[in-house]
Amino acid sequence: MNGKRIDGREANEMRKVEVKLDVISRADGSAEFAFGKTRALACVYGPKALYPKHLQEYEKGILRCRYSMAPYSVDERKPPAPDRRSIELSKVIRLALEPAIFLEDYPKTGIDVYIEITEADGSTRVTAINAASLALALAGIPMRDLVCACSVGKIDNTLVVDLNGKEDNFSEADVVFAMMPSKGKITLLQMDGVLTREEFNKLIEMAKQNCYKIYEIQKNALKEKYKVSE
Ligand code: ADP
Repeated sequence: MNGKRIDGREANEMRKVEVKLDVISRADGSAEFAFGKTRALACVYGPKALYPKHLQEYEKGILRCRYSMAPYSVDERKPPAPDRRSIELSKVIRLALEPAIFLEDYPKTGIDVYIEITEADGSTRVTAINAASLALALAGIPMRDLVCACSVGKIDNTLVVDLNGKEDNFSEADVVFAMMPSKGKITLLQMDGVLTREEFNKLIEMAKQNCYKIYEIQKNALKEKYKVSE
């Protein structure tokens, strides 16, 4: 790999992160999160009474997530209808977020999270999780912690952080990872490809360290919004 990656990054370097809060005024909470040219917009609505009634759970609220990749987000137009991949990623994202939310405080209600990938260049599901976590916090939903997510992988025998689209295509292995940093609790772990146990452990450590960096970025964005002027 000649020391540098195809976009000039070091192995342990994530792409430039951009965060925008309150991007959709009609939503209860909304945020945009980008890793380089992968961009996700998340809108949260709720908690609100859930209808039809048979969907309600009496002990807790339910979280519903919809991941969708915009037709213009990739080189060749993507048909807008939900495909198998979007349905699977919607579930994966919900499972990564659920442990962070005090759903037991909101019986019979639903929280809806709509995520639109507006630009896709690898690692969209983790970008979606970072955007959704911020949007949930902005909607005022009580959470145990923010959820921070990133991808890691092995390319050309080198372990790297935050795979872009090309790297994702040519990687020997890739891992997607999400955690609640203050609790040290992992909420998502998926892996494709083959790694030795040692490589796997090293990648998880790299993913954790990177999530701590994302955590700081997310917290600073929220603190900036709620900053009390002196
Ligand atoms: P993730 O986006 O979470 O890494 P995948 O591994 O399924 O999930 O996708 C890898 C990348 O492949 C995406 O980030 C995107 O850049 C690209 N991709 C996925 N689906 C399509 C599609 N229908 N058309 C073009 N590119 C796509």
